[in-house]
Amino acid sequence: TNLNIVLLLSDVVEQMQIKASQSDVEINYVSDELPEILGDYDRLQQVFINIIHNAIKYSNRGDIIDVVSAIEDNHIVVSIRDYGPGISEIEQKRIFNAFYRVEEDRSRGTDEGGSGLGLYIVKQIVEKHEGKIDIVSQVGEGTNIIVTLPILSVLIYGGDQDEKNAK
Ligand code: ATP
Ligand code: MG
Repeated sequence: TNLNIVLLLSDVVEQMQIKASQSDVEINYVSDELPEILGDYDRLQQVFINIIHNAIKYSNRGDIIDVVSAIEDNHIVVSIRDYGPGISEIEQKRIFNAFYRVEEDRSRGTDEGGSGLGLYIVKQIVEKHEGKIDIVSQVGEGTNIIVTLPILSVLIYGGDQDEKNAK
């Protein structure tokens, strides 16, 4: 269905506000005016909930998380930036694998745990929307996760279902 990313992200940011304030982290969201895109609202919400949840998990108390959505060429670009520990280049190649979690994070006392499935699922959903996901991160500086979604895209997600319904 047609959806408005600005509304979707505002919704997600509002949902994550409680979790953020518990960790004494502030989420700051700014956006351009964006055209509607085709996509699955619930799945895309899941994408941004996962990424923002990670950002909160790996932030320090008092940190800010910057969420920005903008339009670039024929794409909507959403960036979620935190000022946490960052992810090394070697780990960046692995964290989209199912069940993968960075070793230091598991052994760190503050780690609240996780299954290591979050980013794996995120990537599947983004790719179903013909989008892509990039990481820009340096250890000690923080992490920027960038999701790019095409504006003129054919909705593949749930396509199988539609085909079934048509029969
Ligand atoms: P789950 O999301 O299933 O609860 P998880 O958060 O550990 O578990 P992913 O979301 O897939 O799993 O992330 C994989 C790993 O990537 C994390 O365990 C963590 O080591 C690293 N990671 C993800 N996001 C960040 C981030 N913003 N900063 C630092 N490390 C991160
Ligand atoms: Mg996660």
